[in-house]
Amino acid sequence: MNLVQLATFMYPHEAHLAMGKLDAHGIESSLQDELTIQINNFYSNAIGGVKLHVLAEDLDRAKEVLALDYSAEQDEDADQIKETASETNAFQCPNCNSWNVGEPRLKGPFALLSTLLLGFPFPLVSKQSLCFDCHTEFKIR
Ligand SMILES: [Zn+2]
Repeated sequence: MNLVQLATFMYPHEAHLAMGKLDAHGIESSLQDELTIQINNFYSNAIGGVKLHVLAEDLDRAKEVLALDYSAEQDEDADQIKETASETNAFQCPNCNSWNVGEPRLKGPFALLSTLLLGFPFPLVSKQSLCFDCHTEFKIR
C-alpha cells in the first residue's frame, strides 16, 4: 500500500470536505496531522497543514475529482427551491414581492404595560405581517 500526498489544507474541516468528495466517488483517503492542528490551529503553517493522502494508483482520478466544480448546479438548485417556495409560501410581500417579511414589533401602551408587569413584552399571536423593505402590513393567508 503506497500512500501519496494529494493536497494540504489549513484547517481540518477543509480536508474533511475534500475527503467526503473523494469518498462520494469511491476513492479511499486518509488525513495526517489533523488532530495536531485541531488541538492548536497555529501549528498548521509550521507543520505544513492537514495532509490528504490517497493510494498512488488513485492519484490521477482523485485530482480530477477534487477539481470538479458543482457550484453552477447548486445555483440552479437554489433557483428551483426559490421558484417552488414562491408558489407555495404565503410569506411574501404582496406589494413588492420581497421575502424579507416578519411579524411587526409590539408597540404602544400594551407593550409598555406588559413589560412593566411581566418584565417582557407579552407576545400576542399576530396575523399581521410586515414587509421590512417597503413597510407594508398585510394579513397572512
Ligand atoms: Zn414589500
